[in-house]
Amino acid sequence: MFEAPDSKYLVPFDGSFEVASASTTPQTDGHPHKGKHRRRATEKLNILQRVLAAGDRHSVLLVFQAMDAAGKDSTIRAVMQGVDPSGCQVFSFKKPSSLELDHDFLWRTTVRLPERGRIGIFNRSQYEEVLVVRVHPEILGYQKLPGELNLETIWDERITSIRQQEEHLARNGTVILKFWLNVSKDEQKRRFLARLDDPAKNWKFEPGDVRERGHWDDYMAAYQSALNATSRPWAPWYAIPADDKPYMRARVAGIIIDALQSIGLRYPQPSDEDRAEFAASRAALTADD
Ligand code: ATP
Ligand code: MG
Repeated sequence: MFEAPDSKYLVPFDGSFEVASASTTPQTDGHPHKGKHRRRATEKLNILQRVLAAGDRHSVLLVFQAMDAAGKDSTIRAVMQGVDPSGCQVFSFKKPSSLELDHDFLWRTTVRLPERGRIGIFNRSQYEEVLVVRVHPEILGYQKLPGELNLETIWDERITSIRQQEEHLARNGTVILKFWLNVSKDEQKRRFLARLDDPAKNWKFEPGDVRERGHWDDYMAAYQSALNATSRPWAPWYAIPADDKPYMRARVAGIIIDALQSIGLRYPQPSDEDRAEFAASRAALTADD
């Protein structure tokens, strides 16, 4: 089974991760995310994605979670730049539709999982069910759940469902990498103010985002609990400092490249029968005028 590439930002598997100790600013020297480094990363990812598609065995699932204005969209855009668009799919998960509420909470993400050979990106994900819903448990009232609600057990139960599904997917060839883009509260404030000040960013401003900011500590507690319970060697979380966007993008790209390089992707090799066919086809083509 796939094993998490190591990184300074890997969330440990033993439950010892603390949001309060996770850095929101770069923790390594140098900024290898400029100019030729960035172009080289793009080229590597492009090649790895082609071999992934040709091999048609593994699929890759990239999950992005973050507070508002952490830079999920721009990171996805930057990291996937240069990758064949037919080889990847991006899905954004917002408030569930009535069709989605007619199913269990894993349904809407499950039907959008990447097929073999593809990279699937989740911009928000099933994790919202133990993040925004945990912070606002009144949302459970819309979810048509049967029987009595038990707020003491429901989050652990949901986290167990998510973790077990990830283990199942990993056993069956999905490489899962999960990124929590860890923006500081101060930097979020700066970015919200920039959205108010800059006419080109006004469209991004949502008053609701400022209300959610008021629940910051509850969100951090929910993240800590979800990340600790679901960061595993086959489905690791990385808590990436998000206050410096170019640095964040470079770290995310680097982890994806390391992961894809570690699974031994290679172009399918022709069998002896294929080679005999090739020889016959070559002879036919050569004789043809
Ligand atoms: P952007 O603001 O950059 O367009 P976004 O991901 O913030 O992207 P929005 O439409 O602003 O998109 O917000 C989506 C909202 O839907 C978020 O507040 C998120 O918490 C909420 N959401 C996502 N999944 C669920 C869920 N399962 N239940 C309830 N709310 C959810
Ligand atoms: Mg939003």
